Amino acid sequence: MKILITGGAGFIGSALIRHTIKNSDHQVINVDSLTYAGNLDSLASIEADPRYTFEQADICDAEAIKDILDKHAPSAIMHLAAESHVDRSIDAPGQFIQTNIVGTYTLLHAARQYWSALCPEARSVFRFHHISTDEVYGDLERPEDLFTETTPYAPSSPYSASKASSDHLVRAWSRTYGLPILITNCSNNYGPYHFPEKLIPHMILSALAGKQLPVYGDGSQVRDWLYVDDHARALLEVLTEGKPGETYNIGGNNEKRNLEVVETICDLLDQLAPTERSPALTSYRELITFVEDRPGHDKRYAIDAGKIHQELGWEPIETFESGIRKTVEWYLENRSWWQRVISGDYRLTRLGES
Ligand code: NAD
Repeated sequence: MKILITGGAGFIGSALIRHTIKNSDHQVINVDSLTYAGNLDSLASIEADPRYTFEQADICDAEAIKDILDKHAPSAIMHLAAESHVDRSIDAPGQFIQTNIVGTYTLLHAARQYWSALCPEARSVFRFHHISTDEVYGDLERPEDLFTETTPYAPSSPYSASKASSDHLVRAWSRTYGLPILITNCSNNYGPYHFPEKLIPHMILSALAGKQLPVYGDGSQVRDWLYVDDHARALLEVLTEGKPGETYNIGGNNEKRNLEVVETICDLLDQLAPTERSPALTSYRELITFVEDRPGHDKRYAIDAGKIHQELGWEPIETFESGIRKTVEWYLENRSWWQRVISGDYRLTRLGES
């Protein structure tokens, strides 16, 4: 297959491309505009592979997207490009509306025109796979509740509302125009190459720098955590084996309170990096500090991933304990990757100046 992946320079997109190039014989065309979240350093291990191509383009640019589709003739599109950081969506929602809603519309429109013009055989195998989040479902009240594929949408933040809108558009393109779509809604991802503004890398890097570790509210919010390579494997499985028109929830069976996550990171750093801790501290946990809660903060997300397990046989390999240890080890062993993000030098890679 020739797979066009949008947002392939981001955290999950780059994991998906590394997984696809290393574990299949598919070709990949990475379409990414390289916002602050796009980092070509994350693709260094596969960028020389002849099955990989990069196209710098904005998904809101209809002409550029049409040209790329005509030039590469992909047999599938996996759509990950998005603005993805909830805090940024609260401070400046406009770009989330533009990329996540208008960008998805632009891509769907181009995909439909491209798909309609294919020969019957190519039309029948073509898929538009939209990658979304469990945050579209809002939060859960009762401890026994889980999000399923039929849970009504009730997004809370500008980010989740923009992703919910994009999911609705994708379903409408299936119902109205017959575009063969797949949607996946996944819980919080973590793992290597995660941009330092997100909770887990932010805590690891702040602790190593001896800075305070800010936890929203009392840290009791519950999230389900999925190791990013498990997500990448699920996505490829859904693309190749999933039933067109269907939605699959993807989760890690790893519900953790935010405070528990931060404490686990501190305990791992106490084991793995004791010499980098300030002599004034006996544990990295002493850096934890509680800050005013995020407005509209959802209390609990938890996923029922039974459908993807029963229909496609997928389940996560990593537990939270194994995945978080791998993640902390990765940040300790790959300092140049995150040092280049912090210094801003990673932005030079796109200009070929690295
Ligand atoms: P990310 O922010 O790390 O990466 C997003 C990528 O999209 C970047 O490379 C960026 O340059 C690119 N991009 C942004 N706007 C673009 C535009 N207009 N045109 C082209 N490219 C553009 O995000 P991520 O964490 O890898 O998430 C990828 C997808 O998965 C998103 O759609 C997100 O909603 C979804 N998702 C993320 C999580 C998570 O925990 N991170 C969980 C579930 C679903």
